[in-house]
Amino acid sequence: MSEAASTSEPTSTDPVLPGATIGILGSGQLGRMIAIAARRMGYRVHTLSPESDSPTGHVADREIVAAYDDVEAVKRFAADVDVITLEFENISAACVDAASPIAPVRPKGSVLHTTQNRLREKTFLADHGFPVAPFRHIKSRDELAAAVEEIGTPAVLKTAGFGYDGKGQVRIASVDDVDGAWTSMAGQDAVLEAFIDFDLELSVVAARGLAGDFAHYGAVENKHSNHILDVTTAPADVSGAVNVTAVNLTRKVFEALDVVGVACVEYFLDRGNNLIINEIAPRVHNSGHFTFDACVTSQFEQQVRAVCGLPLGSTDQPRPAAMANLLGDLWENGEPDWAAALAIPEVKLHLYGKQEARPGRKMGHLTAVADTREQAVERVVEGRRGLGAERLFLNTNDRTNALPKT
Ligand code: AMP
Repeated sequence: MSEAASTSEPTSTDPVLPGATIGILGSGQLGRMIAIAARRMGYRVHTLSPESDSPTGHVADREIVAAYDDVEAVKRFAADVDVITLEFENISAACVDAASPIAPVRPKGSVLHTTQNRLREKTFLADHGFPVAPFRHIKSRDELAAAVEEIGTPAVLKTAGFGYDGKGQVRIASVDDVDGAWTSMAGQDAVLEAFIDFDLELSVVAARGLAGDFAHYGAVENKHSNHILDVTTAPADVSGAVNVTAVNLTRKVFEALDVVGVACVEYFLDRGNNLIINEIAPRVHNSGHFTFDACVTSQFEQQVRAVCGLPLGSTDQPRPAAMANLLGDLWENGEPDWAAALAIPEVKLHLYGKQEARPGRKMGHLTAVADTREQAVERVVEGRRGLGAERLFLNTNDRTNALPKT
């Protein structure tokens, strides 16, 4: 994305008030939940994506079906809205460049440019002094062999671009894995990273307003299964010092990128209690879904407030909370037993209205609040078990299983 994308954006700080129209690029579940929050506040919502009958389209006033690089369609979309935000970061430069002279795009194009490519993101973070795993840019098999020597094993090889479907990342246990790992990159530029022997995976979801105001939801703990987020627990079971460090790092990342809106910084907490940034998502995030039911202001309402230039809301979370994802695998034997999950009165069901349940596809989630974080996790896991999920979600944090990024 050209730097011109960020410099040509309108700089007005006038608030976009309820009654106005918010444009959302992307039409998945994240856009749906932003749209629900926006409509509750009296905004109109338009969404643009290549999909029809989409999760966001179901709750938007208007669903525009067009490719992101259909510049004429993007310009018409921009002309009909007062501000544009996104729920999907792999928006092309052409799209942002077409839209931003017509309506402000928040977060701006340069934020997307940096975060939609692992190499650019890691280089940006390292250049600004943020803690990242040692990494090298890899363009050939020989460079990979040399970098494996330098960084050591185990290591993880990842495609530099986030958007490449199917060939995501592969673990390198020894030099014998170099040839196979390089072949699996299919000629793509890649990044070799040292493998972090982490204790926990954490994330901080936060928001930054037009005037640089900042609000955060604290560090939460994420457990993955097959590289897909499985369960989030909020707050994370970490010391106050780790929480403060994670929040401060997050604030500094937002400032360095000049983010407007909600974004998420994901961390590894290593065995020595050091925080290492894994990646940045410049949008509302799966690990912030609990905020819908557990916080005074959800990440989705916060996104609306931030991109509309309104004051940020309270992020207070009166009670511990947990969230469990519902993947398409759950539909293997037919429609899940929703009533069984809802038989736990504290469990809240969120479904995204997706018509086709495919394995690994995020179809919905459960949240619960409780007196303790353990009890909150128990409730969502128990609720999911009621759906017939025992077998499918082992809640293992399988770090040896190198699957493509999802
Ligand atoms: P990513 O797509 O980069 O977010 O990686 C997905 C998951 O793979 C992470 O949440 C970790 O569980 C694991 N992973 C990725 N990179 C590393 C690393 N350098 N060290 C250890 N685990 C990693």
